[in-house]
Amino acid sequence: MTEVKEVDIVICGAGLVGLALGAALTESDLRVLILDAQSQPQAPVDVQVVRRDFDLVSGFAPRVSALNKNSVAFLKRVGAWQSVSRSSAFVAMSVKDAEGSGVIEFDADFIGRSELGHIVENQRVISALLIQLAEADQTEIVWNSKLNDMQAEESGYELTLEDGRRIRCALIVGADGGHSKIRELANLKSVGWSYHQQAVVCNIETQTEHGQVARQWFTERGPLAFLPLGQTNLCSVVWSVEDPEDLMAMSAEDFCRELALASEQDLGDILGVDKRFTFPLNQQHSLRYIKPHLALIGDAAHTIHPLAGQGANLGFADAAALASELLQYRFSEQGIGDFEALRRYEKSRQPSNLLMTTAMEAFKRLYSTKNPGINWLRNTGMKLTNDNTYLKTLIARLASGGG
Ligand SMILES: Cc1cc2nc3c(=O)[nH]c(=O)nc-3n(C[C@H](O)[C@H](O)[C@H](O)COP(=O)(O)OP(=O)(O)OC[C@H]3O[C@@H](n4cnc5c(N)ncnc54)[C@H](O)[C@@H]3O)c2cc1C
Repeated sequence: MTEVKEVDIVICGAGLVGLALGAALTESDLRVLILDAQSQPQAPVDVQVVRRDFDLVSGFAPRVSALNKNSVAFLKRVGAWQSVSRSSAFVAMSVKDAEGSGVIEFDADFIGRSELGHIVENQRVISALLIQLAEADQTEIVWNSKLNDMQAEESGYELTLEDGRRIRCALIVGADGGHSKIRELANLKSVGWSYHQQAVVCNIETQTEHGQVARQWFTERGPLAFLPLGQTNLCSVVWSVEDPEDLMAMSAEDFCRELALASEQDLGDILGVDKRFTFPLNQQHSLRYIKPHLALIGDAAHTIHPLAGQGANLGFADAAALASELLQYRFSEQGIGDFEALRRYEKSRQPSNLLMTTAMEAFKRLYSTKNPGINWLRNTGMKLTNDNTYLKTLIARLASGGG
């Protein structure tokens, strides 16, 4: 008979959001165990930029996130931001409709800030969170451990891992991403659909400096973003398209030419491109984030289109809100799985997550249409917004984390 391990909280998923929740809980004496199906990620290493013809080795990881001020403040609070070994602030945004002359531009000054957010490599944030968790030395992280099954009990859950190990906990937190096993096993219904789009992701070297501006073009193929990295001529590219095959198959030189055209040569020619990757894009939202003794956070609760770079930001806000409830109510009579505390978490997060999801969906549809009337309206709307201080301030504040 296998021994059953007992803890207060199990966080299933050691991605950005699960680890951030773990770090936020280290200020308590709660026994927390984080498990992940994958092996422990390697610590990032610094590599020199090298380019031969159009083939680039940028030394930057392919997956980056634009983090807003709330996410950065949360990561500071849990003691991880201080160990993020590389990040670059962006100070302005430019959004262009490539099918006309619509444009919205603003900078941090416009809303009285010194920056709008930071571009960080996901692996560097994960590494910083792992350093913080190791220093606190009270959270167990178990790698290569896939959760396969779970049974509800009166005072929590009993979990079964793929290798047969069992864990009993008062609260299970699903931070296990868009295809959440916890959501499926808990029978929590979600609404979702595939965009039939994939994100082509890579790093590039540009002819002119990015000037710490995050740029986006709504191209005929789909939204294209250039996010400024920590070196003046390097950007991270996210291009969401329906058929990525030709973009993936073309030579580095042809791909650079295609990107220069799609970005209207705003940063001149594209001089080189690093390895290209694709990620499928889906949207889903769980109708409930909670059950007694169970909560979902991050992509497990809601996955949104990356066009406004908000998924991780919403996930960190979930982790902050859930941690705050758990830290406040851990001594309550009902204990750590207290349904009322979990309900407060859900109530505090679901409306704003839904609002952002709906806004992204509206943007996605508005910019996918080939209807000339709607194209005209969209272009005119963008020009009017750009001339309207109130609307522009609203958008600038939303993009950089409100407040
Ligand atoms: C191309 C692209 C660009 C993006 N850009 C931005 C951006 O600029 N800004 C932003 O805020 N967001 C961005 N996002 C969104 C952001 O990347 C995600 O919202 C975020 O990474 C989700 O983190 P998570 O921890 O919730 O889930 P994940 O990162 O998916 O982590 C889930 C973890 O759970 C583990 N797991 C899964 N199932 C099991 C199981 N059964 N047992 C054990 N472990 C399991 C997995 O191994 C994984 O480690 C982007 C997304 C994409 C696709």
